[in-house]
Amino acid sequence: MISYSKTIVRIDLAAVRHNYRVLARSGSRLVAVVKADAYGHGLGEVALALEAEGADSFGVGYVHEGERLRQAGCRGRILNLLGPVDKDDMARLAHGDIIPFITHFETLQKLVAQIEKPIDIALKFDTGMSRLGFRPEDVPALLEFFHKNKCLRPVMAASHFAASDEPSFDSVTQKQHALFSDIVSSLRQAGHAVEANISNSAATLGYRESLWDSQRTGIALYGVNPFGGTSKASLGKDIRNTMSAHVPVLHIHTLRKGQGISYGHTHVAKKDCTVAVIGVGYADGYSRGLSNKGFMSACGIRVPVLGRVCMQMTCVDISALPAGQLQVGDRVHILGGHGEEPVHVCELAEWWGTIPYEVLCLIGMGPREFTE
Ligand SMILES: *Cc1c(COP(=O)(O)O)cnc(C)c1O
Repeated sequence: MISYSKTIVRIDLAAVRHNYRVLARSGSRLVAVVKADAYGHGLGEVALALEAEGADSFGVGYVHEGERLRQAGCRGRILNLLGPVDKDDMARLAHGDIIPFITHFETLQKLVAQIEKPIDIALKFDTGMSRLGFRPEDVPALLEFFHKNKCLRPVMAASHFAASDEPSFDSVTQKQHALFSDIVSSLRQAGHAVEANISNSAATLGYRESLWDSQRTGIALYGVNPFGGTSKASLGKDIRNTMSAHVPVLHIHTLRKGQGISYGHTHVAKKDCTVAVIGVGYADGYSRGLSNKGFMSACGIRVPVLGRVCMQMTCVDISALPAGQLQVGDRVHILGGHGEEPVHVCELAEWWGTIPYEVLCLIGMGPREFTE
C-alpha cells in the first residue's frame, strides 16, 4: 500500500457482492480469488464482504496471503494457488488451515519430509498454459506416489485456461478441457474423490461444459466483463464497476500557443489553453504510458493528459470546462467519475496499453476507502 499518495481509491463492496451473485448464477461453488490484495480491492474487506454473501472458499497467491486472510477473520476454505515456495511456507500450511496447490514432484517430496500430520492438498495440472503444474503424463507416477504416501491427501484437481476470454481461441479451451477430463477420470478411478475446477471468470460465464465442481473467479468480481469488446460481451452485461479513484488539483494556469509542457516538451500547445496540474503520477500507479494518451474525468467531462506523466504530477487540458468551475483543491477522477463521462477501467487499460487486471492492481495500491 502506498503511504505518500494523495489518491483516494474508493471500493464499492456492494458492487463486489453484486458481482458475486451474478457469477453464482452461472457457477456452482465459487472460489473467490483474492490474490494480490483482492486485485487491489483490499484482501480482508473483500473476503469478509463475500463471506456475508455466502462465499466459503478463497484463493490467494502465496501462503502468507492466506495467513493474513485468516488473521482478518476469514473462516472459509483457503487455497494457496502458487503453492508453498520454501520450508517456512510448508510449516505454515497446517497452522493456517490452508490447502496448497502442488505443481511438481519436488514439492510433494519436500512436504512428505516436513509435515507432522496428514494434510489436504490440491493438484495443479498444466493442460496448455505452459506455466505451473503437473503434465497429463505425470498421472501414473502421481498415483504411485499417493499409494505410498498416505500423509498427503489429494482433495482437489485443478487446471487453468490460457484463453477462455477469447472466443477465437475456443478450440484451445476445448482441448484443455478434454485433457483435464481425462486427468480427473484417472484420479477418481484410482479412488481419489477430487473436487475438480478449471474455470476462471470467463469460463464460468461463457463455457458451461467446464464448470465441474467449483469455479475460481477473480476479475468479474472486480467489475470487469471478461468478454468486454468480444462477440460474447452480453454474457457479462450485469457486472458492475467496483473501483474508482480521485486525485487533487494542485495548480491551474494558462498554456500559451507554442509553449511546450512537462518533461521533454512532448506536447506543444496549438492554441492557448487552460491546464490543471493534477497530483498523481507513476509513483501512484498512474502509468507513464498514459503520457499524451490518457483522459481524466473532471466535473463530469473528459479532459486529456498533456505531455508526460511525471512521478507525482500529471497535466490535463481543462479548456473545455467553464472558467472557474474546477479549482485548486478540487478532485478529478482517474478512474470512474460523475456525470456523462466517467472513466471505465477497460478504457484506462487501453490508453495505458495494458489489461484491466494490471490497472486494478496498481491503482488499487493507493489509500482506500470502502462503501457498503
Ligand atoms: C487469478 C487466477 C484465477 C482467476 O482468474 P480471473 O480471470 O481473474 O477470473 C483463477 N485461477 C488461478 C489459478 C488464478 O491464478
